[in-house]
Amino acid sequence: MEDELAFTLNLALYQEADLGDYITFMMNFRTVLNSLKPSEVIHLETVYAMDIINLLVQVLPDHEPHDVPWFECFSYFEPADLHSDYMEREAAKGKGAFIQALWTEYAKPKLYGLVYKAWRRHGAQTLTTWTLLAQAVLDGCFRQKWPDSVFQVPDACPICLGTMHWPEKTHCGHAFHIRCLLRHLDERNTCPLCRAPNPLRASNP
Ligand SMILES: [Zn+2]
Ligand SMILES: [Zn+2]
Repeated sequence: MEDELAFTLNLALYQEADLGDYITFMMNFRTVLNSLKPSEVIHLETVYAMDIINLLVQVLPDHEPHDVPWFECFSYFEPADLHSDYMEREAAKGKGAFIQALWTEYAKPKLYGLVYKAWRRHGAQTLTTWTLLAQAVLDGCFRQKWPDSVFQVPDACPICLGTMHWPEKTHCGHAFHIRCLLRHLDERNTCPLCRAPNPLRASNP
């Protein structure tokens, strides 16, 4: 898993005099990250972006925009766009597995990297703020504008057999990745499944 790799890497990179304290912090932070659960209360997703930035400023005042652990783009893409077999397999399971995988593969590694940066630049850190930040990041992962398919069990695209988070429905009632469908329509303007003519007519009045 990427989170464990990132943990090991960010431990190995650190070479300051307070290495012992850093290692203790990282071990404790890993325990925190591995036991966090998403909060029950649902707010608008923009609240989480603000929370994350407010907390990040406290531990890393000189952060760059790309340091902000906010993963909005993942909710726009199809799983195949991530070029990760693991993410595709988790996406196919549905029931939120894709979001849990986003947390493990991208969010936790990002947080370990930020801890490293904060210790290097600003010295010893306290776990309290980092725990709040981690909770906000985890909640941020879950509160993106996910399509319903992420929480149910998503269908596979009949053309490429990949998982569909954003299926495009034809007027004959079939669903495909929009990209796969458009590629097919370039060659012939019929539904790839039932051969109904002009299959996107209804969504394009
Ligand atoms: Zn497809
Ligand atoms: Zn059809």
